[in-house]
Amino acid sequence: VSSARAAVLAHGAVAAQDVPVPTPTPGGVTVRVTLAGVCGSDVHIVDGHVGEMPFPIVLGHEGVGTLAELGAGVATDYAGVPVRAGDLVFWTPTARCGRCYSCVVLQETPCENASYFEDASKPNWGAHADYVWLPAGHPFFRVPDHVPAEALAALGCALPTAVRGNDRLGEIKLGQTVVVQGAGPVGIACLLVARASSAREIIVIDRFAGRLAMAERLGATLTLDLEQTTLAERVEAVRRRCGHNGPDVVLEAAGTLPAFPEGIQLGGNHGRYGIMGLWGATGDTAFPPRELSTRNLTVAGASFATPRNYFYAMQLVGTLAASLPLGELITHRYAIDDINDALGVTRSGEAVKAVIDTSL
Ligand SMILES: [Zn+2]
Ligand SMILES: [Zn+2]
Repeated sequence: VSSARAAVLAHGAVAAQDVPVPTPTPGGVTVRVTLAGVCGSDVHIVDGHVGEMPFPIVLGHEGVGTLAELGAGVATDYAGVPVRAGDLVFWTPTARCGRCYSCVVLQETPCENASYFEDASKPNWGAHADYVWLPAGHPFFRVPDHVPAEALAALGCALPTAVRGNDRLGEIKLGQTVVVQGAGPVGIACLLVARASSAREIIVIDRFAGRLAMAERLGATLTLDLEQTTLAERVEAVRRRCGHNGPDVVLEAAGTLPAFPEGIQLGGNHGRYGIMGLWGATGDTAFPPRELSTRNLTVAGASFATPRNYFYAMQLVGTLAASLPLGELITHRYAIDDINDALGVTRSGEAVKAVIDTSL
């Protein structure tokens, strides 16, 4: 094979085009992409909400695929598991340099020298493509045999983000009460983390009935439809289920500005509020800061999940997939050539999760 397809964003428009099949450099690998998630972030990038990209880029930052070729010196994944060509792998969105303040002193992501995108004319890690090229230092993990590829692709960067939120905010404890704002992939991922933490109430809010039905199938104890309830009714419903103190944890996974003041209002006394969906929602919103003080509310933001978060998210998919139909989160599948349709159903919210399926 000498040429492959990739979805390239240039000047605000996305189109599939032929690109060369990459070859790995020492310490790096190439991966034949199987399934690649279409994320709300991809829509924000295409729509210019998060600034102009400096060059044509290959879209996509989440996927699973099989190792196509191993560069010189590669014998294991980034958790020490032996790998060979043909193994199914799951990779993180960027390489890490290993010699910057974030990498070494903070031991955090994003790395200051990492780029989420490379010029589409060069080998790169954009996932809406037949192949990705991962340089040395770009973490990937061999997917354990019991972890279904579809479930992993469905939860792409959403579950690592929810796991990151759990790290940043402090873990949900046994028997606690949780409200999740939004039932897209990040909201579903927050629901799964709450379930795995044995929360006793998991209340999910969204405006799409299909998403709320999915949340119920995956363990939501109550769902609230934004279109059919007022804010006062939602606050009342949450208090009725969680008690007069309010919920222990509220998780924002809605990605729209009005979610923030609502989340503050929903928050319980001595509660915690995690912000995960607002990465792509630029702009301002008013809220009463005194509420943070009078209720001792802790607020933490989370984005740019670490390789460790990706590893644990992959393992959590394996644990949960044994009893939950996680593969059904994929509601739409498209060929690379149909990338704009995939972005469309993600933009409109009609998809729970759309994926690029390179076999189509
Ligand atoms: Zn994403
Ligand atoms: Zn670094």
